[in-house]
Amino acid sequence: MSDCIFCKIAGGDIPSATLYEDDDFRVILDLGPATKGHALILPKHHYANLYEIPEEMAAKAMVLAKKMATAMTEALGCDGFNIVQNNGEVAGQTVFHFHMHLIPRYNGDQAGI
Ligand code: 5GP
Ligand code: ZN
Repeated sequence: MSDCIFCKIAGGDIPSATLYEDDDFRVILDLGPATKGHALILPKHHYANLYEIPEEMAAKAMVLAKKMATAMTEALGCDGFNIVQNNGEVAGQTVFHFHMHLIPRYNGDQAGI
């Protein structure tokens, strides 16, 4: 989708702080982090939400989320981890390109997830 900011970021047309990239996904740091290291998994193909993403891609995204959470916990020394995925305005979705939030949690942080 030509007017989608996450399509442009995932495709590399807009530079981003990239933690990981493969043929299907790019993982970037969130512009407005809830905690240190808050990142987003973006598929390179445009799907608006969980309802649109094919099961195979959703499964790949979840496997990647597990790998990223494990590596980030090791790298950051965080105490826990939230994986959040919003669908629809009422659920807090603000960018309508499927994404998963990777949110490291630290003892005593005040993140209102
Ligand atoms: P949502 O509310 O849709 O689940 O999450 C959207 C997330 O994308 C927010 O946490 C917001 O900070 C982040 N975000 C919005 N625009 C940009 C951007 O241009 N670059 C990056 N890195 N993050 C963005
Ligand atoms: Zn998109």
